[in-house]
Amino acid sequence: MPRYAGACHCGDIRFEVEADPVELTTCDCSLCARRNALMIRVPQEALRLLAGEDRLATYVWNTGVARHHFCRRCGVYTFHRKRAAPDSLGVNVFCLDGFDPAALPVRRTDGAGMSLQEPQS
Ligand SMILES: [Zn+2]
Repeated sequence: MPRYAGACHCGDIRFEVEADPVELTTCDCSLCARRNALMIRVPQEALRLLAGEDRLATYVWNTGVARHHFCRRCGVYTFHRKRAAPDSLGVNVFCLDGFDPAALPVRRTDGAGMSLQEPQS
């Protein structure tokens, strides 16, 4: 299984991922549309955080199931725990060394269509 070294921009967060993905995904939810990442999905065991656990910020919104991680220092989105599959992670492929996004097809996933919780009034 190929192994990729991953990092945010400033290098505070470093990780490695074992993955042999067949596709990339985008998501059109209100968060992903703004961060505009191409992602691969991996089982959570496939990602190992090597450095920067204390530098990893977490953004949680709406249902609170998905956990979106990014670097406190440089702000780059690195990976997130998925809402639809909480034992899987979505990983920002642009953080991976030697990964060629152009070699894989891109599948658009439906995030905008996922139910949102109404704010409690
Ligand atoms: Zn950083």
